[in-house]
Amino acid sequence: MSDQDAETAHASEAGREQEAPTRRLRAADPSEGPSEGSAADSAARRDQAVRAAVEQGLVDPASPIVGLLDVTGIRSSASTLRAAFEAVTPPGTPVLHAFAVKASPLVPVLRLLRDAGIGAEVASPGELALARAAGVPPTHTVLDSPAKTPAELRDALALGIAVNADNPQELARIDAMTRSAPTRSPIGLRVNPQIGGGSIGALSTATASSKFGVALLDEGAREWIVQAYLDRPWMTRLHAHSGSQGMPLELMVRGVSATYELAEEINERAGRQQIDTIDIGGGLPVNFGSDEETPTHAQYARRLKSRVPGLLDGRYGLVTEFGRSLLAKHGTILARVEYAKSAGTRPIAVTHAGVQVAARTVYAPASWPLRIAAYDAKGRPKSGPPVGQDIAGPACFAGDLLAENRPLPLLEQGDYAAVLDTGAYYFAHHYSYNSLARPGIYGFATGSGDHVTFATVREPQTLEEIVAESGGGRRDALRDL
Ligand SMILES: *Cc1c(COP(=O)(O)O)cnc(C)c1O
Repeated sequence: MSDQDAETAHASEAGREQEAPTRRLRAADPSEGPSEGSAADSAARRDQAVRAAVEQGLVDPASPIVGLLDVTGIRSSASTLRAAFEAVTPPGTPVLHAFAVKASPLVPVLRLLRDAGIGAEVASPGELALARAAGVPPTHTVLDSPAKTPAELRDALALGIAVNADNPQELARIDAMTRSAPTRSPIGLRVNPQIGGGSIGALSTATASSKFGVALLDEGAREWIVQAYLDRPWMTRLHAHSGSQGMPLELMVRGVSATYELAEEINERAGRQQIDTIDIGGGLPVNFGSDEETPTHAQYARRLKSRVPGLLDGRYGLVTEFGRSLLAKHGTILARVEYAKSAGTRPIAVTHAGVQVAARTVYAPASWPLRIAAYDAKGRPKSGPPVGQDIAGPACFAGDLLAENRPLPLLEQGDYAAVLDTGAYYFAHHYSYNSLARPGIYGFATGSGDHVTFATVREPQTLEEIVAESGGGRRDALRDL
């Protein structure tokens, strides 16, 4: 065991000791539903952070946009996720919550989650490198992706990282590799339970023709899968991830249930508990309409407990891969209103937050509406009668709008627009349209009184960096052809 592994094992033991008080706390609150207190608390922390970001000069006319991360909120989501599954499994059931790195590919965030007992689900060499840079141990890391190269597979197997094969060809590669170099990696297969899509087609991974996994209901597929396990006694895991935002809870439960039934069939045919761990994926949808966190991880876990009890009776270890539901509510984009103008009869606030930090919302506004909060030039919540206005970004195309005709107190030059619930798949997912710089990202924690402390998660991108990554060092490359 490396020092790092030893350190992590120690940290997770310490984490286990802390679990009892968490449970007692939750037991005292039998509703276990989304608590209004915590929604109000997180809104209050956000207001404090916005004010402090302005007062401390994190945003100003020269740095007109930042991403903010609520460290208290992230820690709290991590602990409520763990408590949710502890509450529905017998003590000692191995449960690995592997955060989908895709949702927030930032090393300090992965490190914060690691300290909170959360591992990493990675889907590319880059994501694996980030998880390793954060100190997430191989035993807490899971590799999924539909297009793993031989080199990527070899690295994962050498490190002992869990691998979920996507398809028969990938399994054949793993066969060849494990024959020549034995591995400690737990190996599973991803199946597509084909239970249907949610409201966002692009994020529905369990449709009849999804590109992910082995399509379970296709002719002959189920028998092929069972035989694949019988032929490979070392395959011990089964994986499904049925979709992300837009999936109703009920459909997610059906996907998990189909996966569990398949594991039971394989184990029965094998005459032993060959599959010892079921990876249920992530995909808990997030409420983008208010500060309430709903549905909660606890609600999902309880629904699984009542609908798929065998999954949680202690015979199976579990892996989860939540991304958005751990981070989305804890991020805010804060952008200065550069100009306030009007066109036709429509007031328009031209801000610095647009397609570069909110690509999904700009290109698919109906699927990805975001809340926007108005703050004045001093960072105080703005009041005033609601006026329908467009919140526009800085990019040079007409569709670069974060909201159209949104009723808000009228934004004026020098005010700030805060784009809420953007902690996952937004400001950490820069889209370099118009060579707009990646904004700085800062974590915050509120202290006593109004005091807010910030820590830099990612420096703002400089002009030199933009030039360098745009071929600046190869200025003459095309002249000599
Ligand atoms: C994207 C993805 C996740 C995370 O989805 P969220 O909606 O962010 O929870 C988990 N597992 C796999 C395989 C994914 O592709």
